[in-house]
Amino acid sequence: MTIETRSLPILERAVNTLAEGYKHLPEFEPQFDAAAIQEVLIQAAERMWDNYPYPHPMYAGQMLKPPHPVARLAYMMATWINPNNHALDGGKASSAMEKEAVEEIARMFGWSDHLGHLTGGGTLANLEALWVANQLHPGKTIVASQQAHYTHSRICGVLQIPFEAVAVDDRARMDVSALEEKLKEGNIGTVVVTLGTTGVGSVDPLPAILELKARYGFRIHIDSAYGGYYALVKSLPEYVVNAYAAIKAADSIVIDPHKHGLQPYGCGCVLFKDPEVGRFYKHDSPYTYFSSSELHLGEISLECSRAGASAVALWSTMRLFPLVEDGEFANGLASCRNAAVELHRRLSADARFVTPLEPDLDIVIWAPKARTTSAMSERSEATFKAAEERHLYLATFSFPSRLIKLCYPEIEVDTEYTTCVRSALMKPEHSDWLARIWDVLDQVENDLSMR
Ligand SMILES: *Cc1c(COP(=O)(O)O)cnc(C)c1O
Repeated sequence: MTIETRSLPILERAVNTLAEGYKHLPEFEPQFDAAAIQEVLIQAAERMWDNYPYPHPMYAGQMLKPPHPVARLAYMMATWINPNNHALDGGKASSAMEKEAVEEIARMFGWSDHLGHLTGGGTLANLEALWVANQLHPGKTIVASQQAHYTHSRICGVLQIPFEAVAVDDRARMDVSALEEKLKEGNIGTVVVTLGTTGVGSVDPLPAILELKARYGFRIHIDSAYGGYYALVKSLPEYVVNAYAAIKAADSIVIDPHKHGLQPYGCGCVLFKDPEVGRFYKHDSPYTYFSSSELHLGEISLECSRAGASAVALWSTMRLFPLVEDGEFANGLASCRNAAVELHRRLSADARFVTPLEPDLDIVIWAPKARTTSAMSERSEATFKAAEERHLYLATFSFPSRLIKLCYPEIEVDTEYTTCVRSALMKPEHSDWLARIWDVLDQVENDLSMR
């Protein structure tokens, strides 16, 4: 069943255990109208029908990975207390759980010392990292690749920091020589290195960028909101493994547990290598406060109220799935990547499709082949719609036509961008479902070519 209900009795048991911790208090039972709640909740459930079936393996479009039941239940259980991790007296236990969870994420990247916390998502996490970068290099330019998330240029707009985009190479990764050209001009304070771009999952060449850092001197911020957990997977191409292995040399890192980390939305994470940057977060306390083990998360976060439930969910998930190489979680990611490699293999072997990129991680883009890029864009849109009719849910993505022309010189470029079909294969089950997904793609392509 797409919507599992088997886990619900566990929630009741956990909430009963939670209640035992408060037995010493005088009897108090909040009043509510159960029938009225039920009526409106049923209406809400019916409204939810108007969503794509994100948890099902036939949903293979946008970056939407279902939370693990343990995360969902832990989050809900925590809302009976509804702790606020803004301050210790708002969320004592959940703040401690947040610190433990964040520490384990930092360890995954090879950091023992760090300053970090959870955020509402990747946008806030990146905003904090770029804000700190600008405190350290005031007024200097921040650069990110053309395939980086648009949030970086927008954040720089909000923070009034000069921003420039660096060209990408034929693999949609940051072009190191284009970066060096910009570095030669001077005044670059921070380079945002994306390990797993949102569009196509491309991994920027971090080792080569670190060499440039040794020569030119700048801060490195890793945006691995999407791809960060792939640091645990070693069965990736050597280039990708080396990029992840180099993360520990960065100055700040962003990772979104609500992307690949099995969490419900509202869970990003920012990490700084130097705990001293805590001083930028407005403060009366002396610096020593931040390096003490009693650091108070509200003092090092730009957000004030934050859901303690997110920390409880993440902590519980990481108890069940420790962040270790070859663990169940890491193997699940490897399975996603295998699904992407297999889909790419089938598409590439089929003359009906254009596959401009080999996947670095688990996102595949392609387009039905046509004489011109504008015709290909139309075919991609048609594929997206026709697949949905057959209950396969994909996404589309606008990809630079220049990069398609590099692999397929015979295609006439009449548009700057080409709409491609995009599939983020984020569920470990996708590898088992691939044959079925392929059958639908094959039928859709046959139908469309008969039109
Ligand atoms: C998703 C994403 C973001 C934005 O994060 P949100 O959690 O959506 O706010 C930033 N950068 C990358 C690489 C992403 O994939």
